[in-house]
Amino acid sequence: TDAIVILGAGQAGVQLADSLKREGCDRPVIMIGEETDAPYQRPPLSKTYLLGSFAEERLPLRAPDFYEGHGIDLRLGVKAEAIDRTAKTIRLSTGEDLAFGTLVIATGTRVRVPPIPGIDGPKVFALRSLADSRKIKAALETAKHAAVIGGGFIGLETASAIAKMGVKVTVVEMLDRLMRRAVGPRISSFFHELHAGHGVDIRYGVGVQSVGDAGTVTLDNGDSLDTDLVILGAGVVPNCELAAEAGLACNNGIDTDEYGRTADRDIYAIGDCAHHMNTFAGRRIRLESIQNAADQARALAKTLAGTPTAYSEVPWFWSDQYDAKLQMAGLSEGADESVVRGDPASGSFSVFYFRDGRVIAADSVRAPADHMAMRRILAKPDPALTPEEAADTGFDLKTRM
Ligand code: FAD
Repeated sequence: TDAIVILGAGQAGVQLADSLKREGCDRPVIMIGEETDAPYQRPPLSKTYLLGSFAEERLPLRAPDFYEGHGIDLRLGVKAEAIDRTAKTIRLSTGEDLAFGTLVIATGTRVRVPPIPGIDGPKVFALRSLADSRKIKAALETAKHAAVIGGGFIGLETASAIAKMGVKVTVVEMLDRLMRRAVGPRISSFFHELHAGHGVDIRYGVGVQSVGDAGTVTLDNGDSLDTDLVILGAGVVPNCELAAEAGLACNNGIDTDEYGRTADRDIYAIGDCAHHMNTFAGRRIRLESIQNAADQARALAKTLAGTPTAYSEVPWFWSDQYDAKLQMAGLSEGADESVVRGDPASGSFSVFYFRDGRVIAADSVRAPADHMAMRRILAKPDPALTPEEAADTGFDLKTRM
């Protein structure tokens, strides 16, 4: 067979199927998705959908007739259980062995469940899928107090939606500041103030010791919280077991080169599950973003349609909390200098990050023009922006694009 089989009908899988058709690829495309809901957007699940201002009908990634209309064989409610690289087949939960010519693994991630007694109890909710978000919405109808474990993007977006509904929220963060993995300290403290101003209680440097079936959360400093629901926001783990069991290298994600290819020339991985060679970072990394999932899919579609295309986009990401949009361009990890552009007290500003004098990233709060300019500056082979220029609001960033 010359069929392209895609495992996972999420952001990356759907974009790949769509782009393959746009590239004129006439090979059969079969997409296997474990979930039963038609493929949908995840970002609203912790934001406007949870809040009730984004209707469920608007969540699907494509119109219902899109898949059949484009000759994409979409099979929902079916799980891929094993890959046989020798026979070039996939064992499906239906019992079928599905043959592939090319296999693309786009299985995403799942919520990390920390090893805490009671974490599998009835009041604890993960947030990854539409089904998860529906359950949280239902639990919120009668809730008075919610605990959020983890002060990362999903935890904080959820906290912001819940606080807006008038429900008391306590965020428990093991580290000393918010969104520590992704943003610098100035951004963390801005969002701390924003949440505190909305009545959210944030506890730092403390872990959860146990969760009772009635919703009592005991912290490892002895404090306890009486809650009606607990949201798990302690990160995700990549779904790479299928690849690992088939003998493919996995290191916090499925190892691929800049073309998305694994060590098996007929097997690729894209999206949240891929520990890919990122030409922007200059090393292998795993990203969890719409940008990464969609752009890797577009590049791979070109490659599979006959034009080898390396993935080489500038990483970018966003998060909405209350009425503040945070937009990130580049990767700030490893920065040795940062400057602020604009006045944080005004609620609109950016932080630019540098390493060895070279600009590597910017985080913008309610400053979309700075963000858009930075995406273009970072796309240049040798971005020329200096710290002095970045900090000077009188300096026009466009002259460096
Ligand atoms: P997914 O979209 O997770 O799709 C993978 C699919 O594969 C899933 O449907 C899964 O069920 C399926 N699957 C897994 N294993 C199997 C199997 N064995 N057989 C069959 N199917 C399988 N990103 C942003 O850039 N901005 C945001 O604001 C933002 N907000 C987010 C809010 C929430 C609540 C969540 C959960 C994510 C958010 N993200 C955001 C991240 C973004 O949604 C992901 O980066 C993106 O969905 C990754 O796409 P993917 O296709 O790799 O994985």
